[in-house]
Amino acid sequence: MTSIAALSAVEVDYAGRGAALGPVDLTLQAGEIVALVGPSGCGKSTALRLLAGLEPPTRGQVTRAAGRGETAVVFQAPTLAPWMSAAANVALPLELAGTPRRQARDQAVEALAKVGLAGAEAARPAQLSGGMAMRASLARALVTRPRLLLLDEPFAALDEITRRTLADDVLALVAQLSPAVVFVTHNVEEAVYMAGKVVVMTPGPGRIAGAVSVQGPTVRPPGFRTTAAFRETAEAVSRLLAGREAAA
Ligand code: ADP
Repeated sequence: MTSIAALSAVEVDYAGRGAALGPVDLTLQAGEIVALVGPSGCGKSTALRLLAGLEPPTRGQVTRAAGRGETAVVFQAPTLAPWMSAAANVALPLELAGTPRRQARDQAVEALAKVGLAGAEAARPAQLSGGMAMRASLARALVTRPRLLLLDEPFAALDEITRRTLADDVLALVAQLSPAVVFVTHNVEEAVYMAGKVVVMTPGPGRIAGAVSVQGPTVRPPGFRTTAAFRETAEAVSRLLAGREAAA
């Protein structure tokens, strides 16, 4: 398998605050979905920024096979430009990478259709609901067909029904495009639903307490959340979070 990004004995200290993260080791293979789960302040976002190449570690090594243009990040709050239409927002990364405008717009329209936003191409971000704005953000992240997709609590601001629908839509898109995915959440059930591997982090400084594999196809079958295997996996993650079990 191809490693898309890796953290090796990585540590981060913030000035005046001491050790925030590490030492942490994490390797991401192509097509793999890893959820980072842990309480607030355990270093999930810091780990994501390191993987994105947005900040350097204090010690240790970050290896990135996916270049900057092959990495896409989606944050909790959709960061759409308010003066631009949905299609123009989605076309932007392509235009910045040098794709001719017409072609970029065509690809943006196609990407919007894939996230269920056909017909909303001309809408401004203020006209979109929270769920629709997150869909537009996802379309913008996926339009460049990234090898590495980093999702930082993308559903945290959404209601439960929208979260669940979007979770299935993201998994369907990931199954099509096969990027390596890191999904940050503090929600155990969401981590188990989204990922093939759940990495549990604990704070003070942020460390990896262990990892739990999740069996099942990327696109989850109906009723997946109610299976015994799902509940047992979520329970194993919860035990690790509570410090009641070593690496599974
Ligand atoms: P999480 O995403 O799990 O909530 P973060 O990665 O945001 O955790 O933060 C990990 C630790 O590092 C926290 O203690 C946080 O206060 C600290 N931290 C994060 N970013 C900075 C920064 N830019 N400057 C100083 N401290 C930071």
